[in-house]
Amino acid sequence: MTARDLSDADAPIGPHPDEPHQTGLNNRLNWLRAAVLGANDGIVSTAGIVIGAVGATSDRSAIVIAGVAGLAAGAMSMGAGEYVSVSTQRDSELALLDKERRELRDEPDEELAELAGIYVDKGLDEELALEVAVALTKKDALGAHAEAELGIDPDDITSPWNAAMASTISFTIGALLPLLTMTLATPAVRLWLTVAAVVVALAITGWASARFGYGSARRAVLRNVAGGLFAMVVTYGIGSALGTQIG
Ligand SMILES: [Zn+2]
Repeated sequence: MTARDLSDADAPIGPHPDEPHQTGLNNRLNWLRAAVLGANDGIVSTAGIVIGAVGATSDRSAIVIAGVAGLAAGAMSMGAGEYVSVSTQRDSELALLDKERRELRDEPDEELAELAGIYVDKGLDEELALEVAVALTKKDALGAHAEAELGIDPDDITSPWNAAMASTISFTIGALLPLLTMTLATPAVRLWLTVAAVVVALAITGWASARFGYGSARRAVLRNVAGGLFAMVVTYGIGSALGTQIG
């Protein structure tokens, strides 16, 4: 195909509508991913706690206390963990941008040559690469270098607070599901109702997390549900064994 064929193509110039290119998408995707992971964690860990408790005791208040304590501890832990990990990522991105900013100020000629070199490596001839580098540098030197060298969008640095809030809230929402089915349903049905609710919820979070990765939704759903079932069987077993021993 020649350049002429390419320029005759009907496709408009710009990002493909199916591909993530808009500014802010990185931030939003991180936020959503954290929310789905948080909900998933809340469902599995709290289901494990209340099912373990039900294996050990039929005392409703003991089950409620265990579930609420688990929810609070898990939500805090998720939020703090997410805050720390996103802060670390952000610190390193900001440090790299600072370094780039300094280099652009102190040695602009070397930086221009560096940027042009990147486009030569990508396949442009030297003259065109230099022309592109000059134009991009004139428009937004830092943005051009950040994108080409570091793969960072300076206007789209992930906020650790957003990620922490998303994890905490979504963990709480996920945790409320097994907590409510276990404590509000009658003793005769509460165990199976909780297992059924958890299976459905994990199918949904598994499907949602596959959507972010463009992977197979069916496999993600099966893996997620199987993991949750395994956790519930194990915690019920531990709860039953402890209940017999202690009670
Ligand atoms: Zn540079």
